Amino acid sequence: MADRQDLKKIRNIGIAAHIDAGKTTLTERVLYYTGKSHKIGEVHDGTATMDWMVQEQERGITITSAATTCYWKDAIINIIDTPGHVDFTVEVERSLRILDGMVAVFCAVAGVQPQSETVWRQANKYGVPRLAFVNKMDRVGANYERVIGMLRDNLGAKPVMMNYPIGTEDQFKGIIDILNTKEFHFGDDAGTEIVETDIDPSRKALFEKLRTELVEAAAEGSDALLETYMETGTLSQDQVIEGIRKQTIAGSIIPAYCGTAFKNKGVQALLDGVVAFLPSPIDIPAVVGKKPHSEETETREPDPAAPMSGLVFKVQTDPFVGRLTYVRLYSGTLVPGTYVENTTQDTRERISRILLMHANTRSELKDAHAGQIIGVIGLKKARTGDTLTVENNPILLESIEFPEPVIFVAIEPKTKSDQDKLSQALEKLGDEDPTFHFRTDPETGQTIISGMGELHLEIIVDRLMREFGVQANIGKPQVAYKESISKKAEAEGKFIRQTGGRGQYGHVILKIEPIERGKGIEFVNKVVGGRIPKEYIPSVEKGVREAFQTGIIAGYPMVDVLVTLLDGSYHNVDSSDIAFQIAGSYAVKDAVKKAGPVILEPMMAVEVEAPENKMGDVISDINSRRGKIESIDPLANAIQQIKSEVPLSEMFGYATTLRSLTQGRGIYTMQFFRYSEVPKTIFENLIAEKS
Ligand code: GDP
Repeated sequence: MADRQDLKKIRNIGIAAHIDAGKTTLTERVLYYTGKSHKIGEVHDGTATMDWMVQEQERGITITSAATTCYWKDAIINIIDTPGHVDFTVEVERSLRILDGMVAVFCAVAGVQPQSETVWRQANKYGVPRLAFVNKMDRVGANYERVIGMLRDNLGAKPVMMNYPIGTEDQFKGIIDILNTKEFHFGDDAGTEIVETDIDPSRKALFEKLRTELVEAAAEGSDALLETYMETGTLSQDQVIEGIRKQTIAGSIIPAYCGTAFKNKGVQALLDGVVAFLPSPIDIPAVVGKKPHSEETETREPDPAAPMSGLVFKVQTDPFVGRLTYVRLYSGTLVPGTYVENTTQDTRERISRILLMHANTRSELKDAHAGQIIGVIGLKKARTGDTLTVENNPILLESIEFPEPVIFVAIEPKTKSDQDKLSQALEKLGDEDPTFHFRTDPETGQTIISGMGELHLEIIVDRLMREFGVQANIGKPQVAYKESISKKAEAEGKFIRQTGGRGQYGHVILKIEPIERGKGIEFVNKVVGGRIPKEYIPSVEKGVREAFQTGIIAGYPMVDVLVTLLDGSYHNVDSSDIAFQIAGSYAVKDAVKKAGPVILEPMMAVEVEAPENKMGDVISDINSRRGKIESIDPLANAIQQIKSEVPLSEMFGYATTLRSLTQGRGIYTMQFFRYSEVPKTIFENLIAEKS
């Protein structure tokens, strides 16, 4: 087994692809060849080991970020699972933050598809070095060189072929290993029988051409290599590897491999490539953060002897060990049984155990070091994006940003026992997924869950029902509108009942005024001279806040209002908490009506990339969705990028429209941008719907 302490041997990688390109199948094969998964799980049987969630198996997509450790030759490969659906771009970004290299899988028939482009650009943003694996070489219409061309033309990458197919489709019988000047011939589809030979004379000319391309690419790795190549016309094998490795890590070239994961061909060569060319944790720059509570920059070298630092990138409830926190360690050494500082939350927690997660087993570690990806047990509070450090030498790493949830559905459990199950399940799911929120609507008593997109909520509902056995009625997904006010207003609220015995008496006068977006509700008490006794002030505040939660105009929660309690009166006998709560809520409801109420809607930053000749249609479609075009810029190859701001309520079904407007060539990403006032007609419609 590999030596864990040798950082050079670690590869933290992700495998990314457009849906259906074969990411899951490839991951399975990698786990099979690396010896940790003994039975090959086929995706179509739903037995894949990585996709342990039922929904993922049925949908054939991978959603959560799980990390799996495996071994290839003397290297340790940590595979960080990256999701493939647009709704989960946050998950992709989160995994890109903590991995050092990536294998991008392309279908040999379909080539570069929209989601592979999206992930490619995200990887560019984070400077993640990549290898390309052109999968499905066995399929009718497979064309390796065409896909290589698309990498160059559509993605602006510089692919360098490391191997080349011998035959394609059902005649895909082997590969020319350009790097090692060999051929490998596959005996069967199980991938067990592989015959190594010299280059066949009939392919000599092809090989020479490919080898020259590879050596020339390697020569550009450094001035010294280029000089040697210019002088001698060649490079040694070590120099070739050095040149390719340097440039792969710098992101200037993409080593490319071909194969078929399904038929077990070409996976071993790819694994060799991961080890040879993708960076180890010490090949990438030291992590940079801040001293907590200051703007001072701090750096941590990837060294087991440096002060410990790590980033929590996933929290999962594991069926065997409970709350499991996935951590990428950037520096230092972590030992079970010790305390760590959570610099994000300013808390201190104890690490009880450290696990290495394999596909379907786990092993316990006595310690963990810089560069490792581990599962930690014992942390109760740590959340995704938190920094863990040593107490006497803390650092705060850049957190992972999560957009606000913008879409919600109502859930009504069928029985009391379903209600209990639901509450527990929501706690767990909310803990695992920071982009998912839930609350109870005080008016209807319904449970409202909110998230990033339609699919996101669909998956959560599915998990609630199956994993947690909750029986419930589910509403339609709806846009998360909010309410606010546009001007100042004052109002009085009275709740007085005097019908024999003990009565009720609450009386308040208050002022409301709009405040900056994002401030929520603020409450200030300016009552003097005990005109409302101190003990009733919190009751007034409670009533005010509750009234705002339910929404006054159209039932949406109200935000960005400052409430000032000005005056009121009380009764020695009849006043009570409840009377002041009700008075507070009456006053607010009345005040809002006079304060120019508005409804706010989530606006999305929408980026579309489409062919030049389709731009007219795409732009007029965005305009018809009440969108505002911010900019239009040309990208490579007659593709233009449009940046725009569009209300979420107009974006339902956009994927289908864009596909048909651009004959499938357009792609888009969408992210929450801000809340903004809805126009008058929509305001009136929303109110009409409510009444
Ligand atoms: P993912 O969505 O990227 O994870 O893709 P999957 O691994 O789920 O594969 C999608 C489909 O393509 C499944 O039905 C696989 O069996 C099939 N598939 C994957 N790799 C290959 C391959 O190399 N050749 C062929 N013919 N089919 C493949």
